[in-house]
Amino acid sequence: MTATIALFTQDLRLHDNPVLHAAATAADEVVPLFVLDPAIEAAGFAVPNRLAFLADCLADLDASLRRAGSRLTVRRGEPAEQAARVAAEAGAGSVHVAAGVSAFAQRREARLRAVFGDRLRVHDASLTVVPPGRITPAGRDHYAVFTPYHRAWQQTPRRTVLPAPRRLRTPEGIGSQHLVFDGPFSPGLPRGGETAARQRWRAWGVDRYEEIHDDLAADATSRLSPYLHFGCLSATELTEHALRHDGAGAQAFVRQLAWRDFHHQVLAARPDAARQDYRGRGDRWHEDEDEAEAWRQGRTGYPIVDAGMRQLAHEGWMHNRARLLTAGFLSKTLHLDWRIGAAHFLSLLVDGDVANNQLNWQWAAGTGTDTRPNRTLNPLRQADRYDPAGDYVRRWVPELAHLPGPAVHRPWLLAPEYPAPIVPPEELTTRFRQGRP
Ligand code: FAD
Repeated sequence: MTATIALFTQDLRLHDNPVLHAAATAADEVVPLFVLDPAIEAAGFAVPNRLAFLADCLADLDASLRRAGSRLTVRRGEPAEQAARVAAEAGAGSVHVAAGVSAFAQRREARLRAVFGDRLRVHDASLTVVPPGRITPAGRDHYAVFTPYHRAWQQTPRRTVLPAPRRLRTPEGIGSQHLVFDGPFSPGLPRGGETAARQRWRAWGVDRYEEIHDDLAADATSRLSPYLHFGCLSATELTEHALRHDGAGAQAFVRQLAWRDFHHQVLAARPDAARQDYRGRGDRWHEDEDEAEAWRQGRTGYPIVDAGMRQLAHEGWMHNRARLLTAGFLSKTLHLDWRIGAAHFLSLLVDGDVANNQLNWQWAAGTGTDTRPNRTLNPLRQADRYDPAGDYVRRWVPELAHLPGPAVHRPWLLAPEYPAPIVPPEELTTRFRQGRP
């Protein structure tokens, strides 16, 4: 009887899981294992919102595995050390794991290799549709511009979508830990896990995505990002399924999944981009903790910015258009260091992801992959365009609910009790222009 370990990381699902599928094919018995690494906690990445979601994911994964005759083993500790212990307890000869992209994931893989040598099997198309490094421009190890990446991405063959295993055999007597996490949690968090993910996916329709994805009040994007971050859904399965529709909505949705892959391949090649400017421009960031705090609290005096920040606090999630304009406001209008904003987002986002968060922040701040790094987003123009009736603002800034229609975007005219704009409207795009190199 042979046994192997399927080490779950950001792939907490049964459907289309190359790691689980390969483990089940390679050995008679599989130990599905999840290890919570204290290094993630020490680095401040394990924040309450994501831990609450993770707890749901693990409970759901365990329930699904049990229905297939198996169960999830959970441990806390250094992953390679814990995997070695479990391997000894189960008599497992090998470990299967998904390739990750962050510096943390790359270190974890190196430690697993040091312990297991060639008995470690790394599966590279688990987290993304196209594995980082599979497509590269001539002479470079990654694409730095999205459009040519997207063109090459569309032409790259995708792996086959894998079925969820029906039956799994798991050795008896492997001890598992119960993880309990403390709040405070955002009150409007979504439920985690593959079951909730597939329900959400089925309930959502891609057809109108192209026309409506930027409409803040419509809130019509998929909201699948936390499920993609924790791997409750496979980006490959979503892509294959969407492309069967073949309409403008499906194409636009798949393009966003390509953006996700794009950021992953940048981070895989440049793990330092999680902290360092991807393209340093010698920015001398303004320092003003009061302004940073007004932004975090959603009290900038610009209701469209404040609405986004309050949605983030309440749901641990924010609409993409709101992320763009709040990030642009912090980094371009206030000219505060993008790392301040990225850290705040990561402290709350349930989909908080090193690749997507840090590189989108760098894009917004002009230090990343944007080919027009000097563009600024005027929050008033963004408000008029993407929340024309003011409904998104009224939803998240209830003290302005009495202001009709688009008047809600300029409370200094009708609601003087609302905080005054921290940057006068006439200085929105000019304030720091001279300060730039
Ligand atoms: P949909 O519009 O339905 O898109 C489908 C999926 O495509 C998303 O779930 C996501 O996985 C991917 N996607 C969409 N837009 C992007 C993008 N610009 N870059 C990369 N992938 C994308 N996304 C995260 O998953 N985690 C983050 O930490 C994160 N931080 C961000 C920070 C800033 C400043 C900005 C501007 C964007 C950030 N994004 C992040 C990208 C994007 O805002 C979210 O993925 C999206 O809003 C999630 O909502 P949705 O699932 O309804 O997206």
